[in-house]
Amino acid sequence: MTDYYQVLGVPRDASQDEIKKAYRKLAIKFHPDKNADNPDAEKQFKEVSEAYEVLSDQQKRQMYDQYGSDALKGSGMGAGGGAGFSSMEEALRTFMGAFGGGGPGGHPGQGGDTIFDSFFGGGFGEGQDYARQGVSKKAQLSVSFEDAAKGIEKEIAVTNYAECGKCKGNGARSPSDIKACTTCHGTGHLHQSRGFFSMSSTCPHCHGSGKMITATCDECHGVGKVKKKERVKVPIPAGIDDGMRLKMAGYGDAGEHGGPPGDLYVYIKVKPHDMFKREGDDLIIILPISISEAALGCKKDLPRLLSKKPVRLTIPSGTQTGKVLRVKGEGLKNVHGHGKGDLLIHINVETPVNLSSKQKSLLEDFQATESDENSPQKKSFLDKLKVFF
Ligand SMILES: [Zn+2]
Ligand SMILES: [Zn+2]
Repeated sequence: MTDYYQVLGVPRDASQDEIKKAYRKLAIKFHPDKNADNPDAEKQFKEVSEAYEVLSDQQKRQMYDQYGSDALKGSGMGAGGGAGFSSMEEALRTFMGAFGGGGPGGHPGQGGDTIFDSFFGGGFGEGQDYARQGVSKKAQLSVSFEDAAKGIEKEIAVTNYAECGKCKGNGARSPSDIKACTTCHGTGHLHQSRGFFSMSSTCPHCHGSGKMITATCDECHGVGKVKKKERVKVPIPAGIDDGMRLKMAGYGDAGEHGGPPGDLYVYIKVKPHDMFKREGDDLIIILPISISEAALGCKKDLPRLLSKKPVRLTIPSGTQTGKVLRVKGEGLKNVHGHGKGDLLIHINVETPVNLSSKQKSLLEDFQATESDENSPQKKSFLDKLKVFF
């Protein structure tokens, strides 16, 4: 008696997903289209299809688990009226069903996760170039506020698939181990005719290359690529801002079959600064000054981001809170080389706290002398207020 679990190579408590996966793998392996010269394949194809037919059906599986395949014989529940597919057509119907084709006349490839994506050329695309670009990578790089302003070169480690040095990427032990594909006879395409439909597709065996490898390279085991850790020098231009992305062309995985390599995208994270903020290419400082400095005017030395030499700033008398003073050209270099930004000083007039008794009495004396002239904003507000009272 055939053990269906053994046939599919799954444990007795295998999930439906596991059963489906196991069947797909075996069905493709033994599919008649791939085994023209192997008479045993047809038998195995029927066998795995039969096993799948039973184990993929909740009710049939339960019967089988309890009573074995005999229970399904003649019950009308068995695959094709019993264990053992009577014809290839039934086995193929199961095959079509399992791969989302929905049986003959269905539309293979529809319904998502079907092997037909590659079986019928969806994965590689008919007429598309066989050569494929390597996978592009992402990396993140954190830089200080100062380094972002002046530009810097940083190294990052990336692990890429690089072309195998031993086989030069073809995956074969030697050039004589590359033969014409026996499935498609070197054309890379198949013309399939299956009763109700016929179509031309990329050869699933060689994926359209028309070649097959009889002995694989022992360095890369036929993949043509090997994992390689590399240190990549990333030149970070002056003026780069948080969230910007640098493209390092060609630093991704190696391409396949002569395709170009992928790229490396480096996302820049700029650490914040205690003193400076930025807005585009402008640098910003928030400068608190006292009421006497604001009223009388003053001079302030402000730090520069990248030099010890300070910027001398004159704050005129009567400067209000919220006023923005601008020092031309003291901002950041534009990352695209379009000049420099400015240094913007946001004035914040600070109301004095913790007054001594002397300061308090001085301010009271001052208050006694205050007039509308001293506070034009306050006067304007009071004028508008008269309407209400
Ligand atoms: Zn082929
Ligand atoms: Zn190799």
